[in-house]
Amino acid sequence: MESTTMRATTAGRARRRPKTFGEGRICDFDICETRLSRYNRNEYCFQHAPARFPRMRGEFTEEYLANNS
Ligand SMILES: [Zn+2]
Repeated sequence: MESTTMRATTAGRARRRPKTFGEGRICDFDICETRLSRYNRNEYCFQHAPARFPRMRGEFTEEYLANNS
């Protein structure tokens, strides 16, 4: 077994950190204190992230949503 070599290789390399966006951030929504993952680049938690409704040929218009919620 060449465990010594393996270890040397691993330790010798500069550790690559994944890009993160800061720790301990919380959702930007006023009353929300949901912690954001540091991998989440949004300013809001998943619940408050601006929803994107794909345009579906007028099936989900704002009127539709207003009348059905
Ligand atoms: Zn939130």
